[in-house]
Amino acid sequence: MLDEFVGEDIQELKRLVRGELIFRSDGKAYSEAVKCFNHDSKWSPRLIVQVRGAHDVQLVLKFARARGLSVSVSGGRHMFNNASMQGDIVIDMRLMRSINIDDEERTAWVDSGCIVFDVDQEAIAHNLAAVTGQYYDTGIAGFTLGGGLGFLSPRYGLSVDNLLAVEVVTPQGELLYIDDETDPEKMWVARGAGWNLGVVLRLKLRMYPMETFQHQGKTVHGYGGFVMWPLTAETVDPIAKILQKLFSLVESGKVPLETQPLMAFANPPPGGAPVLMLQNIWVGNPAGGEAFAKIFTDILEPAVNTCAPLDWLAIQDVHTAMFVRENRYYLSTRSVNEQALFGADALRTLTMQILENKPKEGFLVMIAGGKGITDVPVENTACTTLRESKVVCMVGCHVEDDDENIPAYEKAKAWVRGTLMGGLGPICRQSVYTNLDNVGTDEVVKQSAYAETARERIAAVKKAMDPDNIFRFTKTR
Ligand SMILES: Cc1cc2nc3c(=O)[nH]c(=O)nc-3n(C[C@H](O)[C@H](O)[C@H](O)COP(=O)(O)OP(=O)(O)OC[C@H]3O[C@@H](n4cnc5c(N)ncnc54)[C@H](O)[C@@H]3O)c2cc1C
Repeated sequence: MLDEFVGEDIQELKRLVRGELIFRSDGKAYSEAVKCFNHDSKWSPRLIVQVRGAHDVQLVLKFARARGLSVSVSGGRHMFNNASMQGDIVIDMRLMRSINIDDEERTAWVDSGCIVFDVDQEAIAHNLAAVTGQYYDTGIAGFTLGGGLGFLSPRYGLSVDNLLAVEVVTPQGELLYIDDETDPEKMWVARGAGWNLGVVLRLKLRMYPMETFQHQGKTVHGYGGFVMWPLTAETVDPIAKILQKLFSLVESGKVPLETQPLMAFANPPPGGAPVLMLQNIWVGNPAGGEAFAKIFTDILEPAVNTCAPLDWLAIQDVHTAMFVRENRYYLSTRSVNEQALFGADALRTLTMQILENKPKEGFLVMIAGGKGITDVPVENTACTTLRESKVVCMVGCHVEDDDENIPAYEKAKAWVRGTLMGGLGPICRQSVYTNLDNVGTDEVVKQSAYAETARERIAAVKKAMDPDNIFRFTKTR
């Protein structure tokens, strides 16, 4: 297939852009460039431009505006709905990966093509860390602009709570520096619905010093791994007790700030048998992490316990085992109805229903985000869902990207929808965490991802900044 664009303007774009232009006709380069983490849906933009700076972005936007084309921005391509690949032209940030750390100020300017590991690696070299995601190649920009839940969140809040400024090229092509002083309303939008501002080039993040500990001659920053209990008819009661124990700690505000307990019902490899899994991450003295796990292992002896003292980069890599790249995923993340979930009977019923009804492709994850998140008033940032309750619940399924798996996948998707609609009792509220969802239609997500007043504020900024609606694939347009 020939390049789809003809005319002087495309020649000018090819001549002036410092980055790379990749067309559908570019074969392997194109198929590599469009790959997203989730293989459930595949998009094929007409042109992908891997930009090297503000001027490249301005050139692309000028070209798009003149032709009335739609534009999306892509970073780590981790958004499960693959929003960053939708539209005629994709501005790909991945060639921009510089990080500048200010040790004295404990801040960093991070290029928006950086992935989580770029930031973690550079920061820890300065014995600092930022609130980044739990998967090594999640894009730092998409992660932060939508909220950003990380292992440091119990102590320091979401990534948006640590976002100090952004540098943006607006849909109209203007290069803007935005912080709380220059434009508090746009900065508020940046913190949770930031993709409505245009193309974010760089983000200024707050950083924190990391305490170190010695373990067998190695420097570590904490403790982490998985604890797994088999889920069978015989273990339903103790498993319900484990969950009840955790949620009573959550309810009474007694979960230590060092940890962000994650419990998952899943069927992990190699055997694929059903388990309850605790992702036990502890940032601080490793002895504390061991003691925290013991609260639960005293209730029921686990079949697997991989926890060990770890350094920061290894801690950040623990979660990687939970998600396989390029599988097909269908999931949603909602705030939890605490009254419905925290009761002893509800947890036993939940455990029983998981045992009886959950397909092996399905998973149900409950994350106690932490006080650092819920102590911040909901209206402080545009990211409202994650602060509504002390626990968020992710319900989803995944299969290998192979057509043979489609029947099982469709069945598991039906289970996901049923579960979200109340099949397991009224556990999930309808408010969606946009960063982790591809179940909701655009309209559902638009209506439920942000509190009503937040929606109005976001829409007003979006309308003023993008009157031609070039970025028409943002969830909050
Ligand atoms: C395996 C896995 C683990 C995850 N773990 C976590 C986690 O621990 N905590 C958490 O909170 N979330 C997590 N997420 C969700 C993740 O934060 C979101 O999917 C996030 O949007 C990913 O950003 P990205 O840049 O990788 O994705 P992309 O798909 O490239 O972008 C996501 C969205 O942001 C927009 N965007 C990206 N860059 C820019 C930019 N520079 N300017 C303007 N808009 C931009 C895109 O247009 C798109 O709408 C995880 C996702 C996966 C797949």
